[in-house]
Amino acid sequence: EKMKVLLCGGAGYVGSHAAKLLMHEGHEVWVYDNLSEGHRAAVPEGRLIEGDLHDRPALESALREKKIEAVMHFAASCYVGVSVTNPAEYYQNNVVGTLSLLESMRAVGVKRLVFSSTCATYGVPEIVPITEAEKQEPINPYGFTKLIIEYALADYSRAYGWGYAALRYFNASGAAADGTIGEDHDPETHLIPLVLEVALGKRENVKIFGDDYPTPDGTCIRDYIHVDDLATAHLAALEQLKDGTQLKLNLGTGSGASVLEVIEACRHVTGHAIPAVVAPRREGDPPALVADAREANRVLQWQPKHKEIGSIVESAWGWHQKHPEGYGD
Ligand code: UDP
Repeated sequence: EKMKVLLCGGAGYVGSHAAKLLMHEGHEVWVYDNLSEGHRAAVPEGRLIEGDLHDRPALESALREKKIEAVMHFAASCYVGVSVTNPAEYYQNNVVGTLSLLESMRAVGVKRLVFSSTCATYGVPEIVPITEAEKQEPINPYGFTKLIIEYALADYSRAYGWGYAALRYFNASGAAADGTIGEDHDPETHLIPLVLEVALGKRENVKIFGDDYPTPDGTCIRDYIHVDDLATAHLAALEQLKDGTQLKLNLGTGSGASVLEVIEACRHVTGHAIPAVVAPRREGDPPALVADAREANRVLQWQPKHKEIGSIVESAWGWHQKHPEGYGD
């Protein structure tokens, strides 16, 4: 059954891919975004409501006027490294901003939410691959701000009957297969786009943040999950929400790639040499984060389509080649 859905942060990287999928499936999509990080060109024509999460009157009128039945919340600051040096921004945007959204939803009576959480809530996990039963002890402010909202949602669900899904993304990557939307952060800090910018000649080399981690090749291991696979998981989660539903699910492929393996995949896909230099570790980086995503596979009847780092890099390369300057805004 078709729904009217508000996507907060729907002009951003993951949000825009979810918006595209929901539209394609016939849902009525509205994007609420202040365009601080998001891109106008990433939003389907006529679907953008420009506004800030802290602006409750604007949020409430959007929820009311568009008769919103469910919210997907992607709007957040998302750099682990910056969250360590500028935690204030992270608590303000991710915690205060989100509480403002939750209050607006309460005021209007919207009780369905799909929330972008993160594997960063696990900190340094005891057991990898990580299940949802792993303890949640973040090692950076970014992880704390997401975990705080997970706690709030559990309490809102119990007290107010909300149905929600906290989707703990591993490393969102890749781009839409048709090359129309993709990853464009300013400044870019994520590994795959940075490596591809070297292939495009926009950077001289890529820095490897530490090669003395306790991993087979000494570089950090992450579970790279395609944005379109994240999008299908969001839709599946949305369809399951009823009063009191609490879903807390890892979204990953279940297999990891090291920084060196990602660079190697990029060399293979692009045919460029891509020089790499070893640099100091980045603060706040756990050695290995890989999802045990079997709970999401089971509960959502969901499987990622992209299981290989090569196929993820290929789709990202398609976007970067077509849009060497990103959205150009
Ligand atoms: N990384 C790196 N060089 C870079 C950017 C990232 O070695 O220029 C590493 C980073 O330390 C981490 C992995 O690549 O181990 C993925 O980092 P990214 O910022 O893409 O995502 P995160 O895991 O922080 O969400």
